[in-house]
Amino acid sequence: MRKLYSPKTVKELMDFYDVNFSKSLGQNFLVDGNFVRRIVESANVEEKNVIEVGPGIGTLSYEIAQKAKKLVVIEIDRSLVPILNENLSEFSNTKIIREDILKVDINKIVEEDFNGEDFILISNLPYYITTPIIEKFAKIEKCKNMTIMLQKEVAMRILAKESTKDYSALTLFVKFFADVKKEFNVAKTVFMPKPKIDSTVLNLKLRIYDKSVDQKILFDLIHAGFNKRRKTILNSLQNVCKKEELIEIFEKLNISPKLRAENLTLDRYIDISKEVENIRKQK
Ligand code: SAM
Repeated sequence: MRKLYSPKTVKELMDFYDVNFSKSLGQNFLVDGNFVRRIVESANVEEKNVIEVGPGIGTLSYEIAQKAKKLVVIEIDRSLVPILNENLSEFSNTKIIREDILKVDINKIVEEDFNGEDFILISNLPYYITTPIIEKFAKIEKCKNMTIMLQKEVAMRILAKESTKDYSALTLFVKFFADVKKEFNVAKTVFMPKPKIDSTVLNLKLRIYDKSVDQKILFDLIHAGFNKRRKTILNSLQNVCKKEELIEIFEKLNISPKLRAENLTLDRYIDISKEVENIRKQK
């Protein structure tokens, strides 16, 4: 088997199949065997069902398929499918789906390919849809873990502590669904073509989230707060709740109305959301 992470091999395959790198699809392929191995190692794929989003020419997939129980790769770019067919042909545990990940019914894959069992996600993400992909998989109960490579800046937002400039709605969304661990940074030099930005690999361990929380109210509050992050929460949260009600809630919870969205922890947002829910029930 050729080394798929060798720049020479990538170029030869792309030339042979007459495929060009698509910038708009975020096609920057990993060309460093060390990082390929490190990603797969940190994902602990042994005997697990795995979904890989955006396999490209199958560089990560090839490593994963050797260890996983079952691997389903989902690639939007039709022109890469013949290359994937060639590179993954030796694996009977691997299935290739040509589709936009945002349109795929993941629960159907769970039932049909994983016998209803849990699975993990691995992806060197197409960066233009990082957040929708995280949001999609965070809400799928059978997804237990995500090992994802993403833009370093976005990873920093996910890892941010409260009262810092990186703390954001995304930080809180991910915190609600998962325990996050930074694995390692990846320099732009190990991709072909070389992107403008550096990357980071994160591991998200999904957990059973608090089902007593009304997610709509919680995330409406968080988005309202961060959409006007320079304003006090008394002002910014008025999209979700009336001013008098907010004053009452803040008093009850002993939260200063002068704080800004970035000063509140996830638990405090949850406390506020429960009060909003109570008020709405009383109406
Ligand atoms: N896994 C390969 C690697 O590490 O070398 C390629 C990663 S590349 C950063 C992102 C891949 O996602 C590309 O192959 C691209 O075609 C694919 N992709 C982009 N948008 C997609 C979508 N909406 N659904 C599925 N795959 C997508």
